[in-house]
Amino acid sequence: MRPVELKADTPERQLAATLVKRLNLSPPVDIFDVASRHAVIEECDWPSSCDGVALGLNSAQPKIYLKKIVNRRRMRFTLAHELGHVLLPWHVETIQCDVSKGGEVEEGQSETPNVIGVTQELQANTFASHLLVPRNFLSEIAPGYVDSPDVLARLAQANVSASAGVMALASHLPAGYVFLVRGMPRMMRSSGTEIPFSWDGSLDSLRVGLASTSVRSGSLTHQDQYVEWFEFFQPERVGESSFDSDGRKSSEILSAVVESFNLASGADLKMASVASKIGGVLSVRRDIDDSGAIYTLLVYKFRSDARYAGLLESEDFLLYLSMKSSEISRARAGVKAGRSR
Ligand SMILES: [Zn+2]
Repeated sequence: MRPVELKADTPERQLAATLVKRLNLSPPVDIFDVASRHAVIEECDWPSSCDGVALGLNSAQPKIYLKKIVNRRRMRFTLAHELGHVLLPWHVETIQCDVSKGGEVEEGQSETPNVIGVTQELQANTFASHLLVPRNFLSEIAPGYVDSPDVLARLAQANVSASAGVMALASHLPAGYVFLVRGMPRMMRSSGTEIPFSWDGSLDSLRVGLASTSVRSGSLTHQDQYVEWFEFFQPERVGESSFDSDGRKSSEILSAVVESFNLASGADLKMASVASKIGGVLSVRRDIDDSGAIYTLLVYKFRSDARYAGLLESEDFLLYLSMKSSEISRARAGVKAGRSR
């Protein structure tokens, strides 16, 4: 299985990925077995709201205390989070762990760094997310654009709470997905997803706006939670046969499109700016190599950018994007074949 490198890897992500590989873990990860290799685990009843604590981090025998709760999925996440504290060597003991966010926290919701400048609760949550929902598993169930109900059904195998699972899934999916999980105060969207309406900040108006502007939407029960999903993309397919019948090179088509677009709209759009938009969109998703998925992503990103949206009225521009998608797909597949040789 090929590695997915969406963002620069952080130590906690690397550590989780290393454990997944070394122990050959696949969902549902037996977290009690994995954690017991590194710490003594004790389930206790205590009145505090704290879900877990890891002690003796620098000793030969660290201990993880878990609060006995009915929600086993939450306990699994807490245990993976505490294991993160045990295994990340610079983590120090804390009185209270915060696993409520269930995964990686978005920018702007920052935690106060500890004395050595590390946001260790965030790191432990990220570690837990990458251990229980391995990114190679996500690549397997969502190699590109997938149907939300289908992928959520497959995600259930990870046996984590809906909030933790959907957060991991959303961080992996290409642009164009939004999810709402009951009980979570905010939406989860895949990276690069634009919200095409002005929003007053309330959850109710968000839901109405998402439902009325998405291409498809629905709701379902996932891990006993009510989950709403919204898709903003139109799945596209590349029709290679149309390239031959057209006969022009992709650059010739783009040149004609840009010229007629500028004539009609009085704009001063350059071919180079279209090319750099394509490069920018695809550089953050080097893992996607299917031509249909590349085409879908490009159409979605051009449509949600007011400077370029008008171009999509042109059949020729769609032909150009599909040709580029096919070229890029072949180049990426070639690179991959070269690497595995
Ligand atoms: Zn913690």
